[in-house]
Amino acid sequence: VLKLDQVRKSYRTNEVLKGISFQVRAHETVALLGPSGSGKSTLMKCVNLLEEVNDGQIWLGGTDITDPRVDRDHCRSRIGVVFQQFNLFPHMNVLKNVTLGAIKVHKMPKAEATDKAMELLDRIGMKSKASAYPDQLSGGQQQRVAIARALMCDPELLLLDEITSALDPMLVGEVLEMVSELKSRGTTILMATHEMSFAHDAADRIVLLLGGIIAEDGTPRQVMDESQNPQTKEFFSHFR
Ligand code: ATP
Ligand code: MG
Repeated sequence: VLKLDQVRKSYRTNEVLKGISFQVRAHETVALLGPSGSGKSTLMKCVNLLEEVNDGQIWLGGTDITDPRVDRDHCRSRIGVVFQQFNLFPHMNVLKNVTLGAIKVHKMPKAEATDKAMELLDRIGMKSKASAYPDQLSGGQQQRVAIARALMCDPELLLLDEITSALDPMLVGEVLEMVSELKSRGTTILMATHEMSFAHDAADRIVLLLGGIIAEDGTPRQVMDESQNPQTKEFFSHFR
């Protein structure tokens, strides 16, 4: 579904991604791990075309989305994205938040968008909150609504960038549970996270970003338990 080939990205003289190659296959959940500042969000933004790569290619399905001739809005519409925070518009209720992008950007008819949104909200137990405003919801509920919104157009790939980092520890579980549920339904997910035990138990693969390169790419067991790479061991030693 997603393939990065020798992706390079610099901010002025600061080269953050130094030739990144890996894949996310259909129905896989891949956890992107790495220290703060290692470039996880930068990588996500390149995939979502919020940042331009300096070199290399990113393939979404059969499309090279780094090709300047590509329809960027169309590529973005094939990817669902949720960030750490500020995902919802505060002045719109839940239903409006979930349907807006689908109606305005993807030209989904309003009735269809509303039906689809209510179905998604029902699935996450938030149907009764459809007319609530974001500040009337817990952080965990807000993130679950943001995920529902990201699913509105049946994206080929879901990008989750530290979606639990800003949450009260009490609320992390319900959001991660939703990620597990999506995974069990076959959603293809690339998630940056610092939740090591979740990554270990729920991800199919771990990609570890260290110093601008991929230090590891393997099963959680291979990467987190069995790697002999001293830098990898050093990184995971902080989470034991
Ligand atoms: P965290 O775990 O804290 O979210 P991260 O792995 O997501 O970190 P990035 O946010 O991708 O890291 O940042 C990687 C590097 O790129 C950092 O050195 C950061 O200062 C730099 N950087 C990120 N965004 C920009 C920007 N818009 N302009 C300049 N430098 C940036
Ligand atoms: Mg980040």
